[in-house]
Amino acid sequence: MDKQYRVLLFYKYTQVEDPVAFAEEHLAFCKKIGLKGRILVGKEGINGTCSGTIEQTDAYMEELRKDPRFADTVFKMDYEDGHAFKKMHVRPREQIVNLSLEDDINPNEITGRYLEPTEFYAKMQEENTVVIDARNDYEYDVGHFRGAVRPDIRTFRELPQWIKENREIFEGKQVLAYCTGGIRCEKFTGWMLREGFDNVNHLHGGIVTYGKDPEVQGRLWDGQCYVFDERLVVPVNRVNPTVVGKDHFDGTPCERYVNCANPECNEQILCSEENEHLHMRGCTDDCMTHPRNRYVEEHEMTEEQVAERLKQLEEHRAVVAS
Ligand SMILES: [Zn+2]
Repeated sequence: MDKQYRVLLFYKYTQVEDPVAFAEEHLAFCKKIGLKGRILVGKEGINGTCSGTIEQTDAYMEELRKDPRFADTVFKMDYEDGHAFKKMHVRPREQIVNLSLEDDINPNEITGRYLEPTEFYAKMQEENTVVIDARNDYEYDVGHFRGAVRPDIRTFRELPQWIKENREIFEGKQVLAYCTGGIRCEKFTGWMLREGFDNVNHLHGGIVTYGKDPEVQGRLWDGQCYVFDERLVVPVNRVNPTVVGKDHFDGTPCERYVNCANPECNEQILCSEENEHLHMRGCTDDCMTHPRNRYVEEHEMTEEQVAERLKQLEEHRAVVAS
């Protein structure tokens, strides 16, 4: 049977006078048509990802494009068997993408050169080129372009500082930047230009567009692409897919994300089902034995059962060490 749901990913940098009023009205409309997802609205535009049936998503796209400000919004689409979100949120924000700059970038005024997937693919293989992943470390770790630089950052806001500290990697090079759907690179490459780098390019439509391109078919992408919905990852490379994600506990190939069971940590980690049980989903020993461990709660474990599991882990570690 054909898949009856779609996941939409889209953004548009454009002026929105009153993001608060817009968000309120927009939320009411989304709820009315049964859409689910997360949409951010700011004075600089809109940034969203949402899911719904074919009819619901059609209705949404039609309505948004009726507004002249969003008439040429590009929607990336995946077909799925159900919703990729549980709720519908539309939130007003200072910025729809936050680089934490005192003097923010308007991509409609300054941004890097757009490269279509086939151009990006060709340029990646040229001399004197550096490919920079403009996403966060945990996104990189489950999949990235072969040989791309991995910034050591947990949020996008940290990227400018990281680049400043690592200028020598990029100086005098042809810079190719990429992110999930292209929205982060719009600002990031604008910032790179302002910082004095002159050969700055970015992947038009991002990784998800690259994966759908009929010609390149995701070539030179290793692993999967992290997405901010319940799917967590989506495939990119259709030609020779590989697994680059590594189990948090034993380093074996893994693409299964879970959140640490310590509610104060909640760190996203890759781990097998077996290791999730063995470690009661704690990313560290402290998280594992945290008094409010959610895994213990979910499995309604008694104190004896917890003690038994800790003993199992101890034995497991003794075996691994020997
Ligand atoms: Zn943790």
